[in-house]
Amino acid sequence: MAGNDQSGRPGWRERIEDYSRVDVKALKRDGVFDTMRRGIQISPACPEAALEYRAGILSLLYLIPEGHRNAGEVAKQRVTVESTPCRFGGFRPWFRCPSCGRRVSSLFKDDETRFACRRCHDLAYRSQCESWSGRRYLKANKLRWSLGGEAGAMSPIVRPKGMHENTFFMLTLKIRELEAAAITSMAASSSRP
Ligand SMILES: [Zn+2]
Repeated sequence: MAGNDQSGRPGWRERIEDYSRVDVKALKRDGVFDTMRRGIQISPACPEAALEYRAGILSLLYLIPEGHRNAGEVAKQRVTVESTPCRFGGFRPWFRCPSCGRRVSSLFKDDETRFACRRCHDLAYRSQCESWSGRRYLKANKLRWSLGGEAGAMSPIVRPKGMHENTFFMLTLKIRELEAAAITSMAASSSRP
């Protein structure tokens, strides 16, 4: 089976394009953590947010996008920066994910979320998916796999050798039904204000 995302929904690799990313090592290279720097900084390593670093706390300042509460205002998110000694001298910095507290080197954010580690975003995405249409998709995909096919509503459904035509017809109907329900519920929830 192609990929390891078993339900046919887009995986992290596809979704990462939609996220702003801030990498702690890139900020260090750009001197953001230098003690001589004061006040608000703009770094090419993080074009999506203005930065302020003081005493182990990095503040990320960004505009709240249109269509959201307080659109156009500046949101400020504070992230703890830690450092561990490197084997050959010097220090390497880390973020503490503001959401789960894990030590990470990158944080991500899209229009709907605040900065958090990759794992937090993935978990949020999964539970969101599983709460509505995701479960129906998964059921449909399990039926597709049982027929020896691929996941996804666009994949062809082919009758396996030896399967009775009526059985195949009923299974195809069931798959289409589940997928239609999933799409309807997804469309309904995305058009909700
Ligand atoms: Zn996290």
